[in-house]
Amino acid sequence: MAYLRAQAAQIDAWEHLGNDGWNWESLLPYYKQSEHFQIPTEEQCLAGAAYDIDVHGTTGYLKTGWNTGLLGENVTSLINATYTSTGLPYIQEPNGGSMRGFTRYPATVDRELNVREDAGRAYYLPVQNRTNLDLYTNSFVQRMTWDKDSTSSTPRVSGVQFTDASGKQKVMSAKKEVILSAGALRSPLILELSGVGNSA
Ligand SMILES: Cc1cc2nc3c(=O)[nH]c(=O)nc-3n(C[C@H](O)[C@H](O)[C@H](O)COP(=O)(O)OP(=O)(O)OC[C@H]3O[C@@H](n4cnc5c(N)ncnc54)[C@H](O)[C@@H]3O)c2cc1C
Repeated sequence: MAYLRAQAAQIDAWEHLGNDGWNWESLLPYYKQSEHFQIPTEEQCLAGAAYDIDVHGTTGYLKTGWNTGLLGENVTSLINATYTSTGLPYIQEPNGGSMRGFTRYPATVDRELNVREDAGRAYYLPVQNRTNLDLYTNSFVQRMTWDKDSTSSTPRVSGVQFTDASGKQKVMSAKKEVILSAGALRSPLILELSGVGNSA
């Protein structure tokens, strides 16, 4: 449930590796856009919650902040003192690109309901009744399919081949685009199974 971004230098490394425009400054607006930061209560601030509102968004979908049961101030002070004695600083705002040190970082949590926030709660549940939205649970993508009729020199993905929950194999065609977001390990695997990258 930790709501922590990264060190600015880690994000800037994407650009150093050759991805023009992919850096901390250009990513920050999207971090803010996706976030619904719940401003800590006075009691939570006394217990150690600290923030810089300039690096948080308050109108996005994903609720972030501190849950109702923050540890008491004494515990925080004690741990902070221990860290300080080893040379680690206290940081007020770990999500502003500088995250080294001790902090009471925010969580992905719905404070009012006091439950964990996740992609389903933040993005799917609010729109689950839309008639133009279908969610296929327990389905498994094998590969992306290619537009064989495309006259463009750039290959064009036309859809995905997958097995649905009943074990039936299906092909879904895309009118506009396919977004591949199967995680850091599975996305490259699906690309390879689709003929992109290492064929072996
Ligand atoms: C133990 C652990 C703790 C973490 N804790 C935190 C934390 O506290 N805070 C934080 O910010 N980050 C945390 N992370 C990192 C964070 O979870 C990931 O960075 C993030 O979930 C990546 O999101 P994603 O959408 O790119 O991929 P994922 O969340 O990996 O989503 C990929 C989805 O694709 C699905 N999929 C894969 N292959 C197929 C297929 N062939 N067909 C259909 N579906 C498929 C998977 O089932 C999955 O649902 C943690 C990670 C781990 C492992």
